Amino acid sequence: MKQSPSSKRGRSFRSAESLIRLAEGLVTSGSRAEDVYWNKKLEAEIKKVILEKDEISLNVALDKLSEKESRAHEELADAIEGCVEFERIIVGEKTFDSLLITAPILAWSTMGLANFNVSPEQLEEISSLLKKHVFNQNAQISLVNYLYSPDQLPESFIETRQLKKAITHSLLKEHHLLLDEGEIKETATFLADQRHLLGVVAVAKGEHIFRWQDNFAQPEEIEASWKKVSQEILSKIMPQCARDAVLPRAYYVACRDADRQLRKFSINASVSYLSSSSSVTGESLLVVIGGCYDRQLEEYRISFCDKRTFEVYHGIVWPLLGPEDEFSELNEIIEQYLKSCGVSEVKFLTQRLPLEYCEDCGSPLYPNIEGEMVHTEQPESDDFQHQHIH
Ligand SMILES: [Zn+2]
Repeated sequence: MKQSPSSKRGRSFRSAESLIRLAEGLVTSGSRAEDVYWNKKLEAEIKKVILEKDEISLNVALDKLSEKESRAHEELADAIEGCVEFERIIVGEKTFDSLLITAPILAWSTMGLANFNVSPEQLEEISSLLKKHVFNQNAQISLVNYLYSPDQLPESFIETRQLKKAITHSLLKEHHLLLDEGEIKETATFLADQRHLLGVVAVAKGEHIFRWQDNFAQPEEIEASWKKVSQEILSKIMPQCARDAVLPRAYYVACRDADRQLRKFSINASVSYLSSSSSVTGESLLVVIGGCYDRQLEEYRISFCDKRTFEVYHGIVWPLLGPEDEFSELNEIIEQYLKSCGVSEVKFLTQRLPLEYCEDCGSPLYPNIEGEMVHTEQPESDDFQHQHIH
């Protein structure tokens, strides 16, 4: 029988209520025994909702818990992400633990970042490097032949789950997932941005997935070796780019790592870009930083200005992440990053700035030294290509 939209909405409401109740139960738990009970129930409910492709219930439950500023919000978000990226699968007589992962890469290029495809041979090479340096050496790995930009990544939990299923399907056939370029949506070209090499890693049930789970190896050491060993192959896949590989991890946590690391990377990229394509160096720069507000602080906008003329040559957005807010003392962190890139003059604006964009091209406006929101203007007579930095 065809269901009316209202009956579907009623069911969604009940599922959302049930998710909220279970997540709140988990927060009140006082023992490991209760944790196990609540986690099992919560996971079963989430799996049911995902199977029904009911994205609305997941989001309604998360929104309501977020409005209440409840700790249960974090528990529910963790549980949903876990159910989307991790699955125990049974194939014949074998049982595998399978995890959606990403190997993020931060990159910038004076030409702006293009689309990057990865050949099957390159996927094979990366997969061997991953097994040797990051994952269980007996893991099976299937990767996707395309480096996703942040806005090409699946938008919803259900879409992420579907992509994970498609990659797992390839893994079970011992293939990589080869997409046609037409299957990926268009992306805006930025000077500096993230790219994601997605994949699924499978190990025998209960085995360690990552090297750092075995022998107590430190993730930091593994990240350092990954940066080194991935250099050569990444320079073939992404020529003419400056790159920094981020530690490959479970999908959601690795995306958060990449978001966080991109903020510093973009500052480095901006200073290098200005000094390579114009005569503006760290010493001749004045950097102005202002907080842009909607109802609350949404982001910082960082303007790179000429110290003599105060013209704004270039700007970047520093987004707030996770629980950060106006009390997070990000000013000091941003200033420290700028200083490490050779910028000595930094001015913080104390006024609350509006979140304004250019009406013609849609790019963000950046504060000048007076706190007025202005369009970036390229330096005259320099070989300067106007680029947006993410
Ligand atoms: Zn414009």
